[in-house]
Formats: sequence, structure tokens, C-alpha cells
Amino acid sequence: MPTDQPPEGATSPDARPRLSLVVPAARGKAPRHLADLDLAGRKQALKDAGLQAFRADQLSRHYFTHFTREASEMTDLPAAQRQALCAQLLPELIQEVRALRADGGRTIKHLWELHDGVRVESVLMRYRDRTTLCVSSQAGCGMACPFCATGQMGLTRNLTTAEIVEQVRHAAQASARGDLTGGPARLSNVVFMGMGEPLINYKNVVAALHRLVDPAPEGFGLSARAVTVSTVGLVPLIDKLAGEGLPVTLAVSLHAPDDELRDALIPVNSKWKVGELLDAAYRYFRSTGRRVSIEYALIKDMNDHAWRAELLAQELNRRGHGWAHVNPIPLNPTPGSIWTCSEPVVQQRFVQTLRAAGITTTVRDTRGSDIDGACGQLATEVLNQERAGTAV
Ligand code: SF4
Repeated sequence: MPTDQPPEGATSPDARPRLSLVVPAARGKAPRHLADLDLAGRKQALKDAGLQAFRADQLSRHYFTHFTREASEMTDLPAAQRQALCAQLLPELIQEVRALRADGGRTIKHLWELHDGVRVESVLMRYRDRTTLCVSSQAGCGMACPFCATGQMGLTRNLTTAEIVEQVRHAAQASARGDLTGGPARLSNVVFMGMGEPLINYKNVVAALHRLVDPAPEGFGLSARAVTVSTVGLVPLIDKLAGEGLPVTLAVSLHAPDDELRDALIPVNSKWKVGELLDAAYRYFRSTGRRVSIEYALIKDMNDHAWRAELLAQELNRRGHGWAHVNPIPLNPTPGSIWTCSEPVVQQRFVQTLRAAGITTTVRDTRGSDIDGACGQLATEVLNQERAGTAV
């Protein structure tokens, strides 16, 4: 069992992250931004500032369709008003600290600094048939999963809606500009799998989902099925999300099909057990029609046994057929750590056992493993370098 081992990224051998469902108050308020508001709110904000309310529509199109916040590029707006309009609704919210490229330039990982100095990460990945951004929804995380570097930081604060949306806008702009190898691309998918547990930041995340899927000028107009919200299993909030009328894909970070191991791997399992979580995931499928992704990080000798694959298949099939898709994820190899990837032959056996039981199973590729691809690793690495005075 992993509980007698220091967690991934721990700074001392007896470090123990603690689960917290409480969100600390933010230190200072982020500047108000267009993406925090719906179109009616944007119009009102301009009106309150003594500007023409109908300009909110044009400003929104520049932001959500052309991915820009530069006044100089908004030539359809009167030159005398451009600066004032942008100052009101398009302040700079996130600043690049570091950008690292991997996978031959098809992956770019960003470390961003927010207005109060907190840092978050996002990862942009180009695949053959899609371009995907992994966003952060919180600075740090209170879920304390011992295999995750972000879990060791604790939670600093929730991100605002616009701080989440700005990660997406930057990625859409970078893709369209051709920053990824292969030339210009359209950002097609967004996954909430970066730092944080998205459902703890429920209100801001749901508003961000609207900005992602609502058509211009309200939002980017992405397909809801191309947007994935990942959770470690906050059962009441899964039910609440199912009722939002936003048929986004739900991903459940399960990582163990039995409570004994999951209690140790995912501390929130002490509140909502595997059975309750899978019931909620099944209800989500029933009410949205969206097949649920079950995420399963394969950790060597810990959760990768064939009997666990069998148990997982039984638990899924017991509730219905074809409602869930399992994504085994090989953990990044960490020599000498207990948090390391399964042997290829063990991975294969795990996948085959699930498939033989009729479960659709796709091994997720581990993009960016050479740039501290797992969430929280880059932020921790840069912080450590800065403390040691070695940051570049
Ligand atoms: S795995 Fe996800 S939920 Fe768990 S600590 Fe890391 S960021 Fe938080």
C-alpha cells in the first residue's frame, strides 16, 4: 500500500498531503474581464463605464473569433475608443513565465503567472486529428492525491472564469498562428485535467464551459463533446453538472476499482466510495447521453494487477454496457520511485483483460513526459530553480 511512502514530489520523507474541501479566499481580486461575463453583462459593464454598450458584441468577436485582445488589431472599432474599450474589458490576466516544447514541437507546455503571483500550467498538444489544450482550473489542489505533484502543493485558490478562458484563448491563438509543428491548426478540444479539481471550482468552471461551447459572440463555439471535465469523484457535483444542459464529456479519475486501494490513492474516496462514484458516472451518461471516460493511471505493482482489471470490468458491466470507456494512462517513468509506470507486458495484460470483458479501452499517450508533463511538475521545478537561484 502507498500510504507508508512519501508522495510524488515530496520535499521531506515524512511529508503527507492532507485532503481539503475548503477553498482559501483569494488574495485580492483579479481584474474584471470580458470572459467573466455573459454578453448582457459585457454590455452593462461598457454602459456603466460610459461607453457604447453595443461595442461589446464587436469586442467579443475579436476575443472569441480572432483570439486577440490587442486594440491595434480591432480596426472596425473607432480609433478613439479602442483603448478605452480594451482597458474596460480586456485586461492582461495571465503572463507567460516559461514555455517548453516537446514531442518535436507538437506539444507546448506553458507556465503562467496570474495577477497575484500564483502560477498555473497548461499544455497544448497536436495530434493527427485534433489539437487539444489541457487547462488548470485551480492554483494548486486540495485533493492530496499522493502520486501527483500538484497534490503536494495544497490549494492556493480557485481560478476565475476568465483566468481559465484566457489559457484557452492563448492556445487558440498559438495554434492558429502555427506555433505547433505542422503549421496553423484549429484548437478543437479542451480537457480540464491540469492543476486542480474542476468541480470544487464549480461556478467558475461551469461559466468557463459556457464560454467554450457557446457560439460567437458569447463564446468560442467549440463542440461540447470535445470538452472534457475530469474529476476525482465529487458525487453531488457530478449530478449537478449533469443537470446543466451542457453535454460535455465527463472523465472520472478512478485509478483503482476497490475501496481499500482507492482510499489510499485518492483521499476523497473516504467521502464517496467507488460504488457511489460509478453510480453517479452512470447517471451522468443516462442524463447527457455522453459516454464517460474512466481514467486509470497504471502504477507499477500498485494498481496494475489483472484481477483489478477484471473487477473494474465487472463494476462497469454491472451497471450497463457501452456507457464507459477506459483510458489506462502509463504513469511517467520515475526510476527508483514507487510512483512509476507499469511494465509494458503488465500494461498489455491489463488492457487485454478489459477488452476481453467487452470494455472499450484506449491507452492514452503520455505527451510531454520529457518536459515534466504531469500536472504540477513544471511549476514545482521552476519554483525550486528560483529558490536555488538557477532559473533560466
Ligand atoms: S491528481 Fe488531480 S485531483 Fe489529485 S491532487 Fe493532482 S490535480 Fe488534484
